[in-house]
Amino acid sequence: MNIHEYQAKQLLKEYGCPVADGVAVMKGEEAKTAASSLDGPLWVVKAQIHAGGRGKGKFKEEAAGEKGGVRLAKSVEEAAEETQKMLGRTLVTHQSGAEGKQVNRIYIEDGADIETELYLALLVDRETSRVSFIASTEGGMDIEEVAASTPEKIITFSVDPATGIQPFHGRKVAKALGLSGVAFKECVKLVGQLYTLFIEKDVSLLEINPLIVKTDGHIRCLDCKMNFDSNALYRQSAVLSMRDETEEDPKELEASKYDLNYIALDGEIGCMVNGAGLAMATMDIIKLYGSEPANFLDVGGGATKEKVTEAFKIITSDPNVKGILVNIFGGIMRCDVIAEGVIAAVQAVGLQVPLVVRLEGTNVELGKKIIDESGLNVISADNLSDAAQKIVKAVKG
Ligand code: GDP
Ligand code: MG
Repeated sequence: MNIHEYQAKQLLKEYGCPVADGVAVMKGEEAKTAASSLDGPLWVVKAQIHAGGRGKGKFKEEAAGEKGGVRLAKSVEEAAEETQKMLGRTLVTHQSGAEGKQVNRIYIEDGADIETELYLALLVDRETSRVSFIASTEGGMDIEEVAASTPEKIITFSVDPATGIQPFHGRKVAKALGLSGVAFKECVKLVGQLYTLFIEKDVSLLEINPLIVKTDGHIRCLDCKMNFDSNALYRQSAVLSMRDETEEDPKELEASKYDLNYIALDGEIGCMVNGAGLAMATMDIIKLYGSEPANFLDVGGGATKEKVTEAFKIITSDPNVKGILVNIFGGIMRCDVIAEGVIAAVQAVGLQVPLVVRLEGTNVELGKKIIDESGLNVISADNLSDAAQKIVKAVKG
């Protein structure tokens, strides 16, 4: 799960990390009051969307010479003006996808005078099964770019969970970032605070880009991205309350309510499959025969008729879906349950596109019989290859 920058900064603040004062607004009318509660003389007006690269992003229907999603203002009036200009519009960044994201929240912050921009991140490193730090002097730009062109400018190390975070970890980071004096000391402290936050809140990625040294010599977390381990949200109610459902794909959101593993994709064939491996194979074979899957969907091992019905509804609600392929191997899952679910769903939402069903395994004969007797216009298939060819043919003609 992702949260917004201003929410991430709230958490940073709770753990004592240096962040600017700021106020989040959702309505243009609130902007002036919000900006005047901050000291100035510099205000930063920041579009809040779940995508990075906002500074270099572009708004749709952009006016000539207009700035991106992070703007500096020299007065309360200007800050309020920039807030109003951005609210409600669509911002496209290199991380948002071509369709962009609508800006519904703006964060107005006390601006800093920047001396240097640095990079600091923590993540769960699957190779070492530990939390790793990534630090670089090349802040404010894409770390992927730095990794590709000047990998020597990135240092990484992991923390032994048995000993936890130690002052020497902080000194290692501060040294790698080329800090000295008060900034060095503050960085050592920050490293400890970030690690504690990371562990206590079940964070999976915490990126501060940039971490800055201000002209007054102190450091500040200027930007922050935080991702959380979804499997731990049951014990993170404060984090969960920061969820912004408008940032999520509505179909994925609906699927999560029914505990379906659903990922929206941009192809044309809707897939209903049980088991992640079979779902991957189904997507591959659709591609092999010349089409593209519209989604990844694993209904799981013990899906009920209701769950299958919901899954089918989610697939048919996608206007990109030109055909549906149901590919079920009945192991724990019974083919007759799938058949009943498909029929119930078609009766509820109708069937506007071709449907190919391939059933195999437990109660397969009963499942096929239920579908045959339903009077539905279903194309049946005998194996995976046959099924994929049939649905691609039905869609492509
Ligand atoms: P991103 O583009 O989505 O990563 O948004 P950031 O929060 O990282 O901001 C982008 C850039 O805006 C930063 O790299 C800074 O150069 C600039 N910026 C952000 N906040 C301030 C600030 O307080 N003062 C100044 N001078 N520049 C800022
Ligand atoms: Mg940034």
